[in-house]
Amino acid sequence: MVRWQSQTLDAEDGALPGLERAGFVRSVQTPEFEGITFHEVLCKSALNKVEGGNLPFGWTVNPMRGCSHACRYCFARTTHEYLDLDAGDDFDSQIVVKTNVSAVLRREVHKRSWRRETVALGTNTDPYQRAEGRYRLMPGIIGTLTESGTGFSILTKGTLMRRDLTLLTQAAQQVPVHLAVSIAILDPELHRGLEVGTPSPRARLELVRTLADAGFAVNVMVAPVIPYLTDGRAHLADLIEAIAEAGAAEVTAFPLHLRGSTRGWFLNWLAEAHPALLRRYRQLYGRGTSVTPEYSAWLRGRIEPLLEKHRLNRERQAEPEVRAAQSHTPDPQLALFA
Ligand code: SF4
Repeated sequence: MVRWQSQTLDAEDGALPGLERAGFVRSVQTPEFEGITFHEVLCKSALNKVEGGNLPFGWTVNPMRGCSHACRYCFARTTHEYLDLDAGDDFDSQIVVKTNVSAVLRREVHKRSWRRETVALGTNTDPYQRAEGRYRLMPGIIGTLTESGTGFSILTKGTLMRRDLTLLTQAAQQVPVHLAVSIAILDPELHRGLEVGTPSPRARLELVRTLADAGFAVNVMVAPVIPYLTDGRAHLADLIEAIAEAGAAEVTAFPLHLRGSTRGWFLNWLAEAHPALLRRYRQLYGRGTSVTPEYSAWLRGRIEPLLEKHRLNRERQAEPEVRAAQSHTPDPQLALFA
């Protein structure tokens, strides 16, 4: 039975084996989040070590798994399968919330062995997705990292970040704080089809403006660029101009990556919405996960002049160590972007 009157502790939701492993406590449904079930868990650890790679962060914190922003192309979809949930609708609607993440993080960053390496939030699922409005995990995480002298970066599509602006501004006076906003699509119809649960592109541009006005050098991720849908000259020119006008400091862009279950989920949408493109996608991706090197080079050639025109390619001009600190998720293989 679904009980809407109160926050429901519904025994019949019963934990799936994968959720049991994740420290399942209870499942909750509320009228404000129709169609979404929150699975509250108690995590054993908050910090995840990032192995290898040349990323500008050594650790990540992921307060939630699954994401109601529901982007068709999301890289993180496959991670839901580890919980015995599916990578499609379940990823969008069955949200696992680590309700004790701040307390666990506090314990971890107060260990003598903690070396205060940069921590990234938003590399797996979006920490400012709608659930954050209910659970308010980010203020505790931001406060804990700041108190411990640990710099951090946050990548989001969620305008809810604005709620924590004062906290973020205070944090930035004590530790390095890098903020990034993902805006890959300007076209309203494509946005509705591909990023159905996210705030509108215009709302995210306003977020960039707010963060820039507060003094942050905001990175905007124009990613993923969707071949044949968002790589048109006019779309990219309008998008990058709008980002520049919003006051962003730099742009990082790369093309759509299709791996694991994300591939089928995205291609199913493509088959319905743009069937004429299926053949071209087969040619572009073959059986692999990435576009061809020729397409990558072509896209770079199209985007770089736009970034130069608007002086949004500072990253490439900066000293290597500055570049490492500013670049958020440069490797699409590792960038599970928000
Ligand atoms: S791409 Fe980011 S915002 Fe979109 S569903 Fe995935 S984690 Fe959420």
